[in-house]
Amino acid sequence: MPSDAGRPGAVPLAERLAAVRSGIADAAAEAGRDPAGITTIVVTKFHPLSLVRQLMDLGVADFGENRHQEAQAKAAELAALGLDIPVRWHFIGQLQSKKAKQVRAYATAIHSLDRDSVIDALASDDALIDSFVQLNLTDDPGRGGVAEPDIERVVQRVLGTAGLRLLGVMAVAPVDEDPRAAFERVREASLRVRSLAPEATFISAGMSGDYREAILEGATHLRIGSAITGNRPTGG
Ligand SMILES: *Cc1c(COP(=O)(O)O)cnc(C)c1O
Repeated sequence: MPSDAGRPGAVPLAERLAAVRSGIADAAAEAGRDPAGITTIVVTKFHPLSLVRQLMDLGVADFGENRHQEAQAKAAELAALGLDIPVRWHFIGQLQSKKAKQVRAYATAIHSLDRDSVIDALASDDALIDSFVQLNLTDDPGRGGVAEPDIERVVQRVLGTAGLRLLGVMAVAPVDEDPRAAFERVREASLRVRSLAPEATFISAGMSGDYREAILEGATHLRIGSAITGNRPTGG
């Protein structure tokens, strides 16, 4: 089943997008920040390219995907249409080192650097890709991301790898923690990163349910899915 965007009675995509855009503007005002400094990435995982096209028509240029095969297929499908509209794909999911190089072919940015094997696999002398080191804010090592004490070590590894431009840190707020408190920890981690890499000032944080709190704690890249796209066709 495609997204519920076209179902009778469903709020149209344009209205959901407008509602989120105004929520972002409100949160930016509350934080005393310029909304121009905030990039909204619409997460289209599990949705067909037709939804990406509708969002492009509504002015969206940044898309997030969390599975390599799906992202690669969607990017190829879009490229095949030969449209002259710039689009940026952001890879936000866990990455396998053997697939890492392939992500470079379509992605503008990778938000989920967390393991030496993935960082090393992304090394390149020809091209730069924007990247974020993902923090794991939970105690579960099975979750994506670097444990807080390891941040400096992983950042050094990224800085020592040709072809990666470190933008900053990325995180997902744990379900069992107040998001404001979680994003405060991300802000602190960001300061630690900046002491090693002064240019790496960006923070990728904030999803459908917690983007206000993320903006209040300095997020510069929001990754918003269901609040804009409606429910995902097959979970996730
Ligand atoms: C799916 C996903 C999102 C978006 O989640 P929503 O709650 O639908 O906004 C953001 N970040 C990551 C890493 C995701 O996997």
